Amino acid sequence: MSSTALGNHILVEFMNCDPHVMNDVAAIERDMVGAARKAEATVINSTFHHFSPYGVSGVVVIQESHLAIHTWPEYGYAAVDVFTCGDMNAWIAFDHLKACFGAKSYSAIEMKRGSVNLLTRNDFDITSAREKAAEWRNPDFYTRNVWFTDKDEDQALSLRFTGDVFFDVQSPFQRVRILESTKYGKMLALDDMVMTTIKDEFHYHEMISHPSLFTLQNAKNVLVIGGGDGGTVREVLRHSNIEKVTMVEIDGEVIKACKEHLPEIAAAFDDPRLELIVDDGIAYVKNAPDAIYDLLIVDGSDPVGPAEGLFSVDFYQNCYRTLKADGILVAQGESPKFNERAFAELNQTLQGIFGKENAPVGLFFVPTYPTGMWSFQYGLKGAADPRKVTNTDAIKSFVAEKGLRYYNEDIHFSTFALPNFVKQLIQQ
Ligand code: SAM
Repeated sequence: MSSTALGNHILVEFMNCDPHVMNDVAAIERDMVGAARKAEATVINSTFHHFSPYGVSGVVVIQESHLAIHTWPEYGYAAVDVFTCGDMNAWIAFDHLKACFGAKSYSAIEMKRGSVNLLTRNDFDITSAREKAAEWRNPDFYTRNVWFTDKDEDQALSLRFTGDVFFDVQSPFQRVRILESTKYGKMLALDDMVMTTIKDEFHYHEMISHPSLFTLQNAKNVLVIGGGDGGTVREVLRHSNIEKVTMVEIDGEVIKACKEHLPEIAAAFDDPRLELIVDDGIAYVKNAPDAIYDLLIVDGSDPVGPAEGLFSVDFYQNCYRTLKADGILVAQGESPKFNERAFAELNQTLQGIFGKENAPVGLFFVPTYPTGMWSFQYGLKGAADPRKVTNTDAIKSFVAEKGLRYYNEDIHFSTFALPNFVKQLIQQ
């Protein structure tokens, strides 16, 4: 560092970069830390945040100061700061980032910071501070704060993740990623939405399956639309009375990612009672014969992209048609506190097709979904009604035998006890 200034600051405009890289928080964190290391800086901490729907901000704190970045993927643009003091050559970091971001053009300004001519030095004993710092500093260790955010325009859920990406494929339908969150373990994200995590998946998968199966008591033939992570069919196939489960998942990459990286969830894909079909569930139900299913489970993602049609009247009219006389439909129902409109509209659709009294809503908690309050919405074609179940002893022994961690005979009923604001939202 020159004798005249304390620091050196390079302000960089990287342009015409790869928009996907500009939107990839894990890749950007890796490259920014890599740039610091390439310039032989000592990394202390990295904090990176991915904004939904796009954009990344982050900073790498180094012993020699910092590197910071803000990206605009929609412009293929990144604003980068490399601030250094000491002997570090910041241009080495610049070259590394230019290559990593595939920047086809750039501009950079270098400026001296902290001109010593303008500063007065205080009597500060630097040696003891340096010695103290050397005691605790482990050059290989640095704290990483890389955040994954699932949000709408008003609220968000952020999960800190390790920055490691185990699977990342842009399929014809969506971006399929397996990440590792520090609190909830490995997780499946589709586009920028949390689908399931190792630590709380059982909340969702036990509640989407067991209430209906104990209502029907002797279901044989089940259809699952979506559910590519495999958690729903795993729970359904725990019931020995089940003879056949047909699972229709539109995206083979989801199945592949979960088989490889979430084997605890994708545990039943080899069950001989399971027929696994990679196809659009909307078309599949449209072409399905009348009155063949005891239970139809719609384990779909949010009403965007491939799953939009899983919230349509047409789709549910076909679901009704393909259910047996006493059949039950259960659908991932969004949340009365997140996507309220989709939540309320879905229930109106089910009331319209199954009847006002035959479209109950079950609420449950899943911490890694925005607001944590989520729902399954039911369509009851015949007399079979989960609110009128009496075989609680059977539930008790099944829960004990299978070691279920969410569902039990009390939760079976409490899930249908709705707060007043939810009753108003669905006019029930
Ligand atoms: N628990 C999650 C939630 O609440 O959002 C859903 C999990 S599951 C992974 C959702 C699956 O539905 C995804 O694998 C997605 O590919 C699949 N899917 C979306 N649209 C579909 C369609 N039209 N037909 C079949 N599967 C579909």
